[in-house]
Amino acid sequence: MSPAGALPLAGLPGDSAARPRRCFIETWGCQMNELDSQRMAGQLMEQGILPTRDPQEADIILLNSCSVREKAEGKVFSRLGEYRLYKRGRKGVATPLIGLCGCVAQQVGERALKKVPELDFVLGPARVGELRDVISRRRAGERVVATGFPAERSFEMDTISRQGEYKGMVTIIEGCDKKCTFCIVPTTRGPERSRTMEEILAEVRHLVDYGFLEIELLGQTVNHWRDPETGEDFADLLAACAKTPGVRRLRFVTSYPRDFTPRMVAQIGEYANISPYLHLPVQSGSDSVLQRMGRGYSAASYYDLVDQLRAARAGLALSTDLIVGFPGETEEDFAATLAMVERLRFSSVYAFKYSPRPGTAAPRLGEPVDRPIADRRLQTLLALQEGIQRQLNEELVGEEMEVLITGWGKQPGTQTGRTPCHRVVHFPTCETDRLGGMTRVRIEKALAHSLLAQPLTPAPAPLRSSPLAVLS
Ligand code: SF4
Repeated sequence: MSPAGALPLAGLPGDSAARPRRCFIETWGCQMNELDSQRMAGQLMEQGILPTRDPQEADIILLNSCSVREKAEGKVFSRLGEYRLYKRGRKGVATPLIGLCGCVAQQVGERALKKVPELDFVLGPARVGELRDVISRRRAGERVVATGFPAERSFEMDTISRQGEYKGMVTIIEGCDKKCTFCIVPTTRGPERSRTMEEILAEVRHLVDYGFLEIELLGQTVNHWRDPETGEDFADLLAACAKTPGVRRLRFVTSYPRDFTPRMVAQIGEYANISPYLHLPVQSGSDSVLQRMGRGYSAASYYDLVDQLRAARAGLALSTDLIVGFPGETEEDFAATLAMVERLRFSSVYAFKYSPRPGTAAPRLGEPVDRPIADRRLQTLLALQEGIQRQLNEELVGEEMEVLITGWGKQPGTQTGRTPCHRVVHFPTCETDRLGGMTRVRIEKALAHSLLAQPLTPAPAPLRSSPLAVLS
């Protein structure tokens, strides 16, 4: 379905010539969702509907949801409960439209409209490009459910709103064909589909021209990308992106261990502008759990891959995802996960308790692990990782490195950024105040979850400083 033409401003809720239209988008989950929110904001901005940070003044409220864990899904519905109250309170004045988008939208579809009478439409992740059309249909009286996976999915990227972003995100592959037994993503994001190299490189060049120094390639299984026309693989794409003039830092997420090839490993060693940081979800250190998860690799093959990657790129930082309390996980299985964390020394770990998702096979594959046991395992794992992380961060003290500026710090006069190895770093304001700019810093102190640094090119003294103070 093609998007409708320009959305006339007249007819939006609470329409009045003097009042600018506003949209509020709340986003949960992964980078794919973040980019989808930018796509939706762009479509609305094209119609003159500008973002607001206050849902109470919004004409359109979009909840871009995540269903990877039960908790994330619960949050969306509780937020919907809050927004429906705004809507009731504003009846007849400027009633906002409320749309449920993202993976929960795909999963619950029409049921969401029944559950929440104030909800105006449901828009699945593969239908994001149809937002304008869906709003037009709603204005014509229809409560729209746009879910599923149309054969013709477009990657219209020219209407993305990248305002306030410090990195240029580029989808290279959508959906997932793997069948990990705990994961709902193949149901919510549909089958895998890659974009062509030509299209991707055009977007990368556009983002560089726009001023982005860091480019992040996105996909649920990013290294499974293959050009649908030429058959080139992710190793070719990595090289082509790294060679694009102006790409100072290149990252990609999320890699699937089994899909790494020796050529991909070699490219990571070859190009200095490929970030020396890799997110490589392993999920468990136990072969029996990995097998029941349907991951298609063993702990030994994961160790081997990490050895190859670290041999190719000195100082490569690795992060991972781990699930504890997977059905049937024994103390021995859990000990294997702890052993892996100790041996591989990840720079960060995203660890979660197993959470059953509807329609997945995992709940049938083993005895559920009691909640207190899963809680205890999670705490043990996090405590181990915290110590490792602090040590790894301490090893960086005294080093000078280039930092990508990602925002302003909580303390006045401070900024935050990311090191090439993706650590969060806080530092006093430097000469560059542009979000997405780069500056050099010296690491002064390590904390468990971040670093403190001094900029090597501090901000010039403010103009209001006394000249005498400057001279003394
Ligand atoms: S690779 Fe596995 S965990 Fe990752 S999105 Fe696909 S099914 Fe889910």
